Amino acid sequence: MKNRINIIHGDITKIAADAIVNAANSSLLGGSGVDGAIHRIGGMEILEDCQKIRAKQGGCKIGNAVITRAGNLPAQYVIHTVGPRWNGDKQNGSELLRNCYLNCFKLAHDNGVSTISFPNISTGVYKFPKKLAAEIALQAINESLSNNHSIKRVNIVCYDIENYNIYCMMIHNS
Ligand code: ADP
Repeated sequence: MKNRINIIHGDITKIAADAIVNAANSSLLGGSGVDGAIHRIGGMEILEDCQKIRAKQGGCKIGNAVITRAGNLPAQYVIHTVGPRWNGDKQNGSELLRNCYLNCFKLAHDNGVSTISFPNISTGVYKFPKKLAAEIALQAINESLSNNHSIKRVNIVCYDIENYNIYCMMIHNS
């Protein structure tokens, strides 16, 4: 599985992939961090699709994911998932974060995606502990790759060097 995972230090909006995952919030209307960058660079097409989804289902629950077009981003789709805000409940938080990754893979598979980029969901404003988040992410990604052969490449795009170092160490030791 390892050879289908790339750990990248960079900006997810600048890396071409079939699908870019957004760490969104439940409103789907954009926010700070990676969400802000994706909406700013992707443009109106993404917001329009998010508004349609809101009209239909009223936003997105924590752990769930929805898919839109990608506007001006170097991708075909954006998959928006809502990570949990860290509140000290390790068990519940871990399960919700895991669901984010699994549900993104499900949408990717259903839409014929073969390359996908993930940011480090919940580790910014939502303050999830970075090492725990990386453990959960790698486990869910490995599991999804072994069940799903249509995904050829997963980019884990780390914006901050601390996350990048954590992922490099974990991949190296696995
Ligand atoms: P959350 O609310 O889920 O914590 P944030 O956007 O605040 O979402 O942070 C999630 C992660 O995204 C953080 O690790 C942050 O460093 C990272 N991030 C911020 N901007 C970008 C970007 N342009 N590309 C990739 N990752 C980014």
